[in-house]
Order: sequence, then structure tokens, then C-alpha cells
Amino acid sequence: MVGGMGWPLAGRERKGETGRVTSTVRASVRVEGVVQGVGFRPFVYSLAIRLGLAGWVGNDVDGVFAEVEGSAAGVKEFLGLLETQAPPLARVDRVTAAAMTPRGASGFEIVASDHSGRRRALVSADSATCDDCLAELADPADRRYAYPFINCTNCGPRFTIVTGVPYDRPLTTMAPFTMCAACAAEYHDPANRRFHAQPVCCPACGPRLRLIDTRRSDKAGDPLAEAARLLANGQVLAVKGLGGYHLAVDAGSQAAASALRARKHREDKPFALMVADVAAARELCEVDETGQALLASARRPVVLLPRRAGAPVADAVAPGNRQLGIMLPYTPLHHLLLAEAGRPIVLTSGNVSDEPIAYTDGDALARLSGIADAFLTHDRAIHIRTDDSVVRPLRGRETLLRRSRGYAPEPLGLTARLPRPVLACGAELKNTFCLAVENRAFVSHHIGDLENFETLRSFTEGIGHFQRLFDTEPEVVAYDLHPEYLSTKYALDLPGVDLVGVQHHHAHIASCLADNREEGPVIGVAFDGTGFGGDGTIWGGEFLLADLAGFERAGHLEPVPLPGGASAIRQPWRMAAVYLDAAYGGDPPAGLTVAGRHAGQWQDVLAMSRRGINAPPTSSAGRLFDAVAALLGVRDTINYEGQAAIELEQWADPAERGAYRASIEPGAGPGGGAGPLRVRGADLVRAVAEDLLAGAAPAVIAARFHRGVAAAIVDVCARLRDRSGRGTVALSGGVFQNLLLVGHVVDRLEEAGFRVLTHARVPPNDGGISLGQAVVAGARDRAAGLAAP
Ligand SMILES: [Zn+2]
Ligand SMILES: [Zn+2]
Repeated sequence: MVGGMGWPLAGRERKGETGRVTSTVRASVRVEGVVQGVGFRPFVYSLAIRLGLAGWVGNDVDGVFAEVEGSAAGVKEFLGLLETQAPPLARVDRVTAAAMTPRGASGFEIVASDHSGRRRALVSADSATCDDCLAELADPADRRYAYPFINCTNCGPRFTIVTGVPYDRPLTTMAPFTMCAACAAEYHDPANRRFHAQPVCCPACGPRLRLIDTRRSDKAGDPLAEAARLLANGQVLAVKGLGGYHLAVDAGSQAAASALRARKHREDKPFALMVADVAAARELCEVDETGQALLASARRPVVLLPRRAGAPVADAVAPGNRQLGIMLPYTPLHHLLLAEAGRPIVLTSGNVSDEPIAYTDGDALARLSGIADAFLTHDRAIHIRTDDSVVRPLRGRETLLRRSRGYAPEPLGLTARLPRPVLACGAELKNTFCLAVENRAFVSHHIGDLENFETLRSFTEGIGHFQRLFDTEPEVVAYDLHPEYLSTKYALDLPGVDLVGVQHHHAHIASCLADNREEGPVIGVAFDGTGFGGDGTIWGGEFLLADLAGFERAGHLEPVPLPGGASAIRQPWRMAAVYLDAAYGGDPPAGLTVAGRHAGQWQDVLAMSRRGINAPPTSSAGRLFDAVAALLGVRDTINYEGQAAIELEQWADPAERGAYRASIEPGAGPGGGAGPLRVRGADLVRAVAEDLLAGAAPAVIAARFHRGVAAAIVDVCARLRDRSGRGTVALSGGVFQNLLLVGHVVDRLEEAGFRVLTHARVPPNDGGISLGQAVVAGARDRAAGLAAP
């Protein structure tokens, strides 16, 4: 968008070379957004030269500034092309231009940077190796032939190597490497693709690749060839990536994938794969147009795609899953390794169990030596641990499930400016935090589950790093109401800030609104595992009449006990017990095998639940899915979050058209009036049990259950529309990662005439909570009469 005063402008008239009268104009131009470290000044320089304009361009704390002088038509074209032809990694938020008096200038130059003032220029995300660099990588005549650290202004590491701002080589982990004369010449040449590419380097002056054993001794031979040989022999290789260490094995080897699982103590959670290119991805998965675009994007996320029957991938890679998580190489090292290996590899996070991934060399050697047989590593440090991002095509567009490497720290634009800077601390699982200022929200990289010291340290250090990077001191701090979340405790300990508590499911709906650049009001459907409710119970199947500032709980799943608290989450069969108890009000019919499998504890669990001992009421939708999964025999206990529901979805027959019915009744409200609508999940469980006893196929039952949940959601939304007049529904919460469910819900809602908002830019799971908290805090500031600056 080109804005600003006095444009288009009139200038002095002069005779052009053709003899026609042309008018010379001069403009001062400002470009805001991700415009530093991405080749923007050389781009401006070439553009000005091409259009025959005089003037200069430079960087300052706000972004890029320029003055251009020449024909009115040339200047106008220049302003348009600034946005439409910007370099690949640039993101232009705003171009403003103001008229100046022409000076009869000639020549165009790049002027020195101005580092004074409050910083607003943005650090870009890490980006996959570009085509120009790949061509050089493959060219035996090039001085960077087969060099694993090739990069330029259009590609390479950014966020993961930045130690401070301004973004300049001394404030990156490339600081210890002194450029050779050839690299320095490229770095200083405005016409060169590597002009001011901070990580520029070559075999003569840059980082070096090593293959070492667990005792840090170099292995003989060429590191890449030797690494590929280890993989082919079924060994486990640790590989230093952009944001941390990965563990790699041959994806076709059951023995290697199983060994990796055993050593990592990771029982069932799928491993991601890396393949050489889109063609190789097609051999493993169904890749549609959206999937291909996501795989090949410069952000290079892990893309979840439907697995092809007979795909040559070991069973141990993604047990019980119809999808595979696939990514293409995103560093030159990956390209070289995949070419050398000649086959798909597992490339999973370098950690044990649920610990954060290792990103420093010492930590990687210490923690991964019991897992990896060798380390493919190098001497360029990683400054910020950044996991791979995970996305999925959904109805022809990208949906993020984990927003991290390649996306962070790119800001998300907000519809309304924030009166004061906000830090939002996020939730507990899949934590991200968010620093928001004016109309930008900087949602952090994936921090992880805040359950141990290491992730808590990533969280606190990450917040400090973001505050320095974006030169922002928060005045408002938003947090989840759950008193035991470490993110909440952190917020409550901060001195000198205003604190804003945000209910978990309200944050989900607000995050979906911000994701779609909307403000509501909407009917919000927040379905997830658990979140701290406003009434001392555990919420998780919620219908909220919400806008950014507030909400009313207008409906929910009828609560059942959560027997044993956290153990009920790990043991879905416990939810089957309480749901059957609610459905039948006593002994369930004989013949349900789940009761037989847990006969020893079944009555104890029920006794505890009925007396309300260590069994808080919950309206969690995730637990309803768990109950049905256990009842059907999908799984009685889980090894990772959401596993039972994920596998239940895989079981469902997509061709089935039947649906179970849940009754929906208003609960008792205050003063004897009608309270929130209550959806009786136990009705669905009873229908599942009866179909099961009647001998229906589990695939059919699983499908009817999904369709029944969708029907109940649409029914409640229709009643709330009648009551409130609202015709837009926002869907959020981890349960909406279920493709089958989200497909039915969106289709049925649209058939019923609703406008439906789903997530795209931040995940529907708790990774999106921090964005929601931030916009709620901003809306409350505005509601309190604070004006945006
Ligand atoms: Zn490049
Ligand atoms: Zn060099």
C-alpha cells in the first residue's frame, strides 16, 4: 500500500532527451516491514538504475529509506515496483512517499546505515536455500561447489543466528568467521546477490563440516559420504540443522527406525521424514497442489500428507497413522546429504522423549551420545533453539499446527493498534509467547511443554531476546487463569506491569479472530483437551458468545468426572468408565470389552468418580473422544498427547453417512432462569456402545461418532444464532486438528448459512493461545478508554 501526503506530485518541467517536455520530481520514500538482511537495498539500487532515477537508499531503525529523483512516470513506476518486485524474503508492510523539491541530482548510491532511534525494523525468519545458490552448489566450477554453508541475501539462516540488533554480522553467530577477500568483495558490491548478506562465507573462510564419533574424534573420509554410508548401514546419525540437532536414520529400515524409537524412548509419536524433492515426496504421499506449494515453500515446514498405500517407509516411522510428515531439504547440508544418501531419511528432533531439542554442540554430544552413532556437525553456532514447523493443507489453504522455524519471528498484522505493548505468556503445553506492539504481534517460535527447567529457560530467555530484538518493553502482561501453569507463575511474578488474566477458551477464540484479522462478535466453538474454567471446573467443550474483549459461556458439553485428574488423560479407558456410567446410570450392558480389560480398577474408578474424590468435573471434548476410542478398542492408554483421538480419526470410515444424536438442553441458570446449553456427550457414548454390541464395524461407529459431534456443534450454533443474531462461527482448540471433524463441521455450518472462521496463521492448538491473549489484553485496554498511540 502506498500512502503518504502530497503524492502524486507536481515538479519542475524540463526538456527530456526526446525533446518532449517532461517533469522532474523528487520523493522521499520509506519502506517498512521485513526489509533488512533480505537484499532490499541492492534491489532498490538496481530498480533506480533501471528506471534512470537519481538519489540514494539506506537502512535505519524503521526499515529502508530512500530519496529518488527523475521523471514523474519513473518515480511512480518505482513506487509500484517496490512492493510488487520486492526480493523473495522481504515482506513489505507499508510504502510511504512524500514530495520534495527536485535538486537536479544525478547518480544513485547506497548510503551508510543509521542506527539511532527506537528500532522497528524486523528480523526475518530462516529461509531455505534459493535456486541461485543451489545452482552454484551443484556447479563444479563454482568456488562454493558442494559447500554446505552456501547462502545469499535471498536465502539462509537469519533468526537462528541473530544474537542482537541491528542485524549485522558482528551480532550473528557468524561473527567469529572473518570474510576472505573474495567474500568481502561480494559483500560490499551493491550489484551482487551477496551484498550485505550477513552469513556470507565460502570454503576458504566459513564454517566447516565434520563427522565425529561420540568421543568427539573425527571419522576418516569425506564427512558427507561417510555419513551417508552410516545411514545405509542402519545407524543413527545426529545432524546439526538450522535450529537444533536432528536424528536421522534410513526411512526404509524397520530395524533402524525401531532402534531410534527405543533409544529416544519415543514409543508411537510419528517421525518426520526428509526427501530430496517433490517427486520423491509423491512416491510416499498424495501431494495435491496446496501440498506441493507448502513442501516447496522457502519456509520449508514439515507437511502432513496422506500416505500412499505401499509407500516404502518402515512401519516404525508413523505407526497407526494414515499420514506422513514430510519436508524437503532446507539447508545446503541437507541437500548434499540427501543427494549422497539417495533415499528418504527420518529426520526427527534431537532429544530424548519430550525434552527440548539439543542445539548447542556440548549439549548435543552429552544428551545424544546414547542415541546417535555419529554426529554430522559444524562450527557455526545456533543462537536460538527453533524446531521445525508443522503444517497441513486444509480446504486448499495452509493450516499451521506448529509455527516455528521459517515463520518466527515474522510479525502477524493486527486489525486494531494496541494502546500499550503487551507480553502474552501463552499456555502450558505447546507453549509460545507473544510480544505485541502497535499493530504487530510477534508470536515466538515453539517453546514446547513448560514442564521442565530446560523449556522454562527457553521461555524466559526467549522473552528477553524478543524484547531486545524488537526494542519493546511490555506494559501489559497477559496470562492463562490456570494457577499451576509455569507461564502463569512467571507472569504473576513480573514487577511493574499491568496483569490481564485471560480464560483459556476465550484466548482460543480470540486467537482465531486475530488469525482471520477479525474482531467479532462471533459464536466461538473451543474444543480441546483441558483448560481452566471460570467456575473451578475443567473446561474443554465450549460454546462462547465472544468478541475480543469478553465472552459469555453459552453452551458446553455436559460435565463428567475426570477420574484421577492427569491419570485420566494418560488412560482413556477411565473416561470410557465415567461416560458409560453417565450413559447408563449404573452397570453398563455386558459384553463391552473395555470393562473386562480393566476389571480390576473399573469399580474403584467409578466409586471415586461418584464420590467426587480426585475427580473434578470436566466438559472436555478431548476426553469424550478418548472415551469413545477406548470403548472401540482403539487404545486404552496413550504415549503422546491426543493419541487416542488421532487414532480414532484414522479408524473412521469416510464413506459412512450415519450420525449419532446428542440431546441438547439448557442447564439451570442463576435465579432459576435458563443457563448455558448442555450437550449430552453420554448420549453419543451410549449410541457407540449399542452399535458395538449390535456388531457394527468399528470404522462405521467411529465415523457416526464424528458426524454426531459435528451435528451437535451445528445444532448448538443454530440455537445461539437464534438467540444472538450472530451468523459467524469461529472454530478453535486442539480437537479441530481432527480433519474429519473439521470437514464435517465446516460443511454443515456453511450449509446452515453460517460464515466459518478456522485457523491458518497460528495453530488451533495451544500454540495459538499467546496471540489470543495478546489481542484480548489490547481490546480490554481499548474498552477501558486507552487510545492507541
Ligand atoms: Zn541463496
Ligand atoms: Zn570466503
